[in-house]
Amino acid sequence: MIRKVFRQGSVATLLGLGALSPSIGAELRGIHLSSDTNSAQVTLELTDGALQKLFTLDHPDRVVVDLPHTHLARGIRMPAPAGVVTGMRIGSQPHGTLRVVVQLKSALPAHSTWGAADTGRQLVLTLGPLVASINSGPKPVYALHAPGDGDRDVIIAVDAGHGGVDPGAIGHGGTREKDVTLAIARALAKALDAEPGMRAVLTRDRDQFLELRDRMARAHAAHADMFVSVHADSIRDRSISGASVYVLSAHGASSEAARVLAERENAADLMGGILEDKGALRPVLLDEAQSQIIGISASAAERVVSALEGVGELRRAQVQHAGFVVLKSPEVPSMLVETAYISNPAEERRLREPSQQARLARAIASGVRSYFTQNPPDGTRFKQVRRSTLASAGDAASAATTP
Ligand SMILES: [Zn+2]
Repeated sequence: MIRKVFRQGSVATLLGLGALSPSIGAELRGIHLSSDTNSAQVTLELTDGALQKLFTLDHPDRVVVDLPHTHLARGIRMPAPAGVVTGMRIGSQPHGTLRVVVQLKSALPAHSTWGAADTGRQLVLTLGPLVASINSGPKPVYALHAPGDGDRDVIIAVDAGHGGVDPGAIGHGGTREKDVTLAIARALAKALDAEPGMRAVLTRDRDQFLELRDRMARAHAAHADMFVSVHADSIRDRSISGASVYVLSAHGASSEAARVLAERENAADLMGGILEDKGALRPVLLDEAQSQIIGISASAAERVVSALEGVGELRRAQVQHAGFVVLKSPEVPSMLVETAYISNPAEERRLREPSQQARLARAIASGVRSYFTQNPPDGTRFKQVRRSTLASAGDAASAATTP
């Protein structure tokens, strides 16, 4: 059974690889091991980086790394067991995930860091006490001890876009984006609160102007596990309709339309007279920690996309990427949902209907719930449920096939 679990998420999407397509992805081109009697370092040479999961298992003690959308290059040699490492193997998991299992003589703390390599990227797993030299590099990520029994709620910050002096987009019938986003945000909070183990916090619950960074700060102050910003898109072509889901981009927008949209949403701060913060509109520079957060955001956003697709509300079937300032939080996985086109007369009408607001809200809530069911944060009720499910399903790592 899983004893220590770490954070999850697919970072492949932010590398512009089209992470939703299993046919494209990274290649594992080399594995190196150095080990002594009480520590080990495993280096994985990859064409691109995407750490989905790092966790440890016992009986026997193992460290497991899941790499989404990754395949093994031909002719890779597994390093021979040495020191504390008694064996290594690689197996395929569903949906194109490659699993690397390192078996140990005894349990060791594990953490990972990404670095550059000749092949592209390098994932270094350090098993054993953290050494000082690692601290000088990119921020390491730790496989944490799961706390014994926590049952706190997963907290979702629900952000109604625009507000106050910033009306957002305005429909041909005069509907203001700031009003429908507030209505949908309230419906979403209600839908989330109705889920056992979840609690919603609204960044605004009235017609109020908020700076983008204020919205993030409120989510952070509420100890949010996720941030969902609700918007309604607008475009010149009135025939275009449907929802899209966005996460922060590390390498430019996924389309010109996404870039223009991000510029428009980012301009909200300018409407409130906050002109001094030019930095907010600069391209987003990401460190390792933020890249990981985007990976988590993208995999949660994929769930919301599926849920919206399930109710037939989708414009784009893939998670979109762009440089939204409101999604820049370095700690809280964040997504922005453009629920519909307020510029489409039929959607504008529907956006005003409480039944449609509730329908969109329920779909978003079910996507969020689906994500946390699969990826429960430590100390939450979701985690307790997950742990008991895994226990009854048996040892997860035994699913790794030996090549
Ligand atoms: Zn908006």
